[in-house]
Amino acid sequence: MRHAAIAPREEITSLSVPGNLFPKIKAIVPKDIKIEKLEAMGSGKIPLLIYTTSKGRCSTLLSKAQFLACLECFLAIKQQKSCSAISYEIRETGVAVETETGKYFIAASEIKAFLERYNRASLDKLEVELTAISAVVRNGIKGTVNEVNKLGCNCPDTIYRHTICKHQIAVHVRLNRLGWGSMGAYLQENQGAKWEEKLLRMAREAKADLGC
Ligand SMILES: [Zn+2]
Repeated sequence: MRHAAIAPREEITSLSVPGNLFPKIKAIVPKDIKIEKLEAMGSGKIPLLIYTTSKGRCSTLLSKAQFLACLECFLAIKQQKSCSAISYEIRETGVAVETETGKYFIAASEIKAFLERYNRASLDKLEVELTAISAVVRNGIKGTVNEVNKLGCNCPDTIYRHTICKHQIAVHVRLNRLGWGSMGAYLQENQGAKWEEKLLRMAREAKADLGC
């Protein structure tokens, strides 16, 4: 993914989408984790994560629904289009996923890096502000600001490590909650009158949420 250009500040604020800025991501573990291994547990093939935190080594089971949601998030960010995962198979080398549109294989190193960042996106309570051309992600704890667009993110994780970063995950979860399956789908609508219509619609929804 390439470096995402930072838009001038005025352009960003003048077109921001109203509503709740926090994507509400469910944490896998309420601590920063380094994943050692992902395996399938028992005949039900429940995903089991073995990881370390600052307190030591531990393991946790994920629900199938949460794991499928994580796989959908990974594939939607990678492909820039929404994705509906049907089933998965956890192997030594990675995870084979069957979706409504085809079969994919995610390498073990990639899915582990992704789940660590998914968890971090939740712990950092990232704030996502959508604009006409991108999404601005603020980390209130660390005081950093990053921009995500369809080319990726401008953080070191994306530029140097070429992984899906926590900012892209936070943006995807918020877009998904608002009804866009991907950044690509969201940006496609952001032109001319359609964008104004969208802003008005979202402002009405935000007001309705507040009971106005
Ligand atoms: Zn990033």
